[in-house]
Amino acid sequence: MNILLLGSGGREHALAWKIAASPLADRLYCAPGNAGIAQDAECVALDVADHAAVIAFCRAKAIGLVVVGPEAPLVAGIVDSLAAAGIKAFGPTAAAARLEGSKGFTKDLCRANRIPTAAYERFTDAAAAKAYVQQKGAPIVVKADGLAAGKGVVVAMTLAEAEAAVDMIFGGGVGAAGAELVVEEFLSGEEASFFVLCDGDNAVPLATAQDHKRAFDGDEGPNTGGMGAYSPAPVMTEALIRRTMDEIVRPTLSAMKAMGCPYRGVLYAGLMIDAEGPKLIEYNVRFGDPECQVLVLRLMSDIVPALLAACDGMLKSFDLRWFADPALTVVMASKGYPGSYRKGTPIEGLTEAAAVEGVEIFHAGTRAADGKILADGGRVLNVSARGKSVAEAQARAYAAVDRIRWPEGFCRRDIGYRAIARERGQG
Ligand code: AMP
Repeated sequence: MNILLLGSGGREHALAWKIAASPLADRLYCAPGNAGIAQDAECVALDVADHAAVIAFCRAKAIGLVVVGPEAPLVAGIVDSLAAAGIKAFGPTAAAARLEGSKGFTKDLCRANRIPTAAYERFTDAAAAKAYVQQKGAPIVVKADGLAAGKGVVVAMTLAEAEAAVDMIFGGGVGAAGAELVVEEFLSGEEASFFVLCDGDNAVPLATAQDHKRAFDGDEGPNTGGMGAYSPAPVMTEALIRRTMDEIVRPTLSAMKAMGCPYRGVLYAGLMIDAEGPKLIEYNVRFGDPECQVLVLRLMSDIVPALLAACDGMLKSFDLRWFADPALTVVMASKGYPGSYRKGTPIEGLTEAAAVEGVEIFHAGTRAADGKILADGGRVLNVSARGKSVAEAQARAYAAVDRIRWPEGFCRRDIGYRAIARERGQG
């Protein structure tokens, strides 16, 4: 089967690496891809927003499966367009992708189905939103309704910050995503990411992960798209996984089906674990980035049959095998990220780094020029490793990082520190 993967980040390189290893994959294409993905797939300069062009490419290359990496094309309905053209695509339809595309939609679904989540209200008017903020008090959380590339959520520790967030969102700070907003209760506890594969009716738990969102060591500094991740998440015990499936995931799938928009694809539940159990912070309708990078390193089974089974409604009693060993990924970013940074700086030592035992290097933002690899974005490399423990995975990943010569890059040196402290605590 010929497969087309859409996207260009570290998540897509990890998916390309795993798909390319499948005996079911004949030719693998990626649009638009990056310099690392080009080692596993043939990169093509397709405009993913141009659905007619994607369909024409699929027909020309006899594509049997399209795998969509990022959320924007899903929310824009690429899966609907492909399905209408008779082309199988992994991922939710636009109506099902509202689970990520509209925070208000998801909150209403939780309320109607008694799914545990932060108390909330939806607003289209600044005065009403501020009155609610005043009534509830700080800390409180203000979220733009639509897709805002991570910039639409403000965890406000003071009333002034919350009011400023309302003004920022309604003032056009996140564009059309801010036509409506949600104000919700501040939750405390430990965060975890939980991934399930869904076929409209059935859900197969994948694995758990935790990420580090802040730019600097000790979880300090500005929020980013993610500076590293590890899997499994020690906080997610078997009992909590069962509760998450019963109290959050299955009721969501039933509700989506009842609304006429069954959910197919990967569902990524961002959870807050507190004394009462798991609460849903948000859904994403695709693999996390960089969490996907650690999930694929732990997945022993071929990924392609799993993706096909999700598309075809065949996940009931589907079994996936996992390596018990943890995996960890360190994001190397351009200096200045998540603010402004230089592009085009050269990176050396990747071959030596990839030779470290247990290590895979996924490219998140690179391009090749004159035989050199150049940084081409904020998050640039995902140096990933599996090990017998999180500590070993971390040591391997940093041994590889230390072989990479890229003076204009930086990374955190403490990815996984909480999980490693737990390992040490358990002796
Ligand atoms: P979201 O995009 O909704 O996942 O929000 C981004 C981040 O903001 C989450 O990963 C949490 O760290 C934080 N966050 C979102 N909602 C809440 C909440 N209700 N209480 C506390 N923290 C939150």
